Amino acid sequence: MESGYLLVNSLLKNQYKKYWIEDPVEHHKNIIGEYHVSSIGCNNQHLPPNKHAGPCLRQTFYVYVDPMENTNQTEGNFHIGRILHAEAQRIYRLNHDASIAEYPLGRKFFIDDEPVIMLGSMDITNESFSDKPYINYIDIVDFKTASDWTFPKDRDDKSPTHFNQVQIYAYIYDQYNLNHKYNIIRNLHVVYLAKHNLYTGIQPIKYDWTNAIYKYTNFINRIKYLHKQLKLRELPKAEPNKWCKFCDYRQRCYADVIEEKDVPVITIKEVEDLYMRETGKSPKWRGNYTKGFETYKYRFKVKT
Ligand code: SF4
Repeated sequence: MESGYLLVNSLLKNQYKKYWIEDPVEHHKNIIGEYHVSSIGCNNQHLPPNKHAGPCLRQTFYVYVDPMENTNQTEGNFHIGRILHAEAQRIYRLNHDASIAEYPLGRKFFIDDEPVIMLGSMDITNESFSDKPYINYIDIVDFKTASDWTFPKDRDDKSPTHFNQVQIYAYIYDQYNLNHKYNIIRNLHVVYLAKHNLYTGIQPIKYDWTNAIYKYTNFINRIKYLHKQLKLRELPKAEPNKWCKFCDYRQRCYADVIEEKDVPVITIKEVEDLYMRETGKSPKWRGNYTKGFETYKYRFKVKT
């Protein structure tokens, strides 16, 4: 969601590929029938639009059927996240003996007799102090790379998306991996790593099984819905949220089309005419584009 954010305000061309990508390039493929917790999440449509919500299943649908390449400005965004997570995991494990990094989680289930897999991985699981013999208390940590725009303001500025994710991980781990006689999950931490300066903030919650099963069920229902839409190749419902303005697929979303090629293309002159017709006002020039362009830019591609 933060793909529209520019790390450096520079006119220099981004040379990310030259210095950070090995040859040959290995692309991560999204395969219908394999769903990652982070791209499905839970339904948070009840939240007001200024709150953190998402992921949007319509956006995830686009990523599966006709993904867009990252722009030249933003193509290193995910890579820096991977580097930071791996380094934070490495250091955490040096400092905490009883911890596991990058613990993979996976469950196979069936939708209309068809096998489907859900995937995820916990950044850190850590056994914490126990005052009871033979009982392990476990904390789970999920790292999030953040920018100035996405870093939480305080403890109450919690992103449901991020907490849903760690709750789903904890539930799967608890339900399918742990021996309950000896292991109790206690705390879930979402740890934010600022990619500009490594400012690191933690938001904790207590693990609550009842709440976690509710999130997990919602997550599985969302997989079923998305899987059906992908098989039918029909657009899922849009799930508008605070980050729509950074969504790479917003033009397709507003035009209600699947493929990039189906987005209407119009000229600046046509944008201005439309603006005048709809508002009765003259479009004002602002640099290379007009007030009308600002109003309609999410609905059309503009012919340059
Ligand atoms: S613009 Fe918003 S609602 Fe549409 S696909 Fe993107 S995130 Fe979803």
